[in-house]
Amino acid sequence: MSADCLFCKIANGDIPAKLVHEDDMAVAFEDIKPVAPVHILVIPRKHIPTVDDIEPEDSQAVGHLFQVAKKIACERGLAENGYRLVFNCKADAGQLVYHIHLHLLGGRKFNWPPG
Ligand code: 5GP
Ligand code: ZN
Repeated sequence: MSADCLFCKIANGDIPAKLVHEDDMAVAFEDIKPVAPVHILVIPRKHIPTVDDIEPEDSQAVGHLFQVAKKIACERGLAENGYRLVFNCKADAGQLVYHIHLHLLGGRKFNWPPG
């Protein structure tokens, strides 16, 4: 828990969000400014600022984010046509919130390479 972290506050319930999943390791909620019909952020409860800060002991918690994203994608009917999962790491990738979050994006086609 980092006292000044927006996503720690959402995970703790101190700031409201539209939660779609919660367990002992992870929380998932609707992005406040969705860029696709489905845009959900999946975060670990542990405060990890960037992908660059992931330690070997975080492997289970980070791997779990994919399990949660996959489950939600399936629930939202995205499994057949597919979806995109994104971690932005630091400034060049456009990371705005420094608590790692897996973007689950779906419901439309996405370009590659990204802009
Ligand atoms: P990043 O650019 O760091 O990878 O993505 C941060 C994401 O967090 C953005 O898509 C942004 O819309 C979302 N976001 C920022 N502040 C809030 C908030 O207070 N609540 C929710 N639900 N999403 C937020
Ligand atoms: Zn945090």
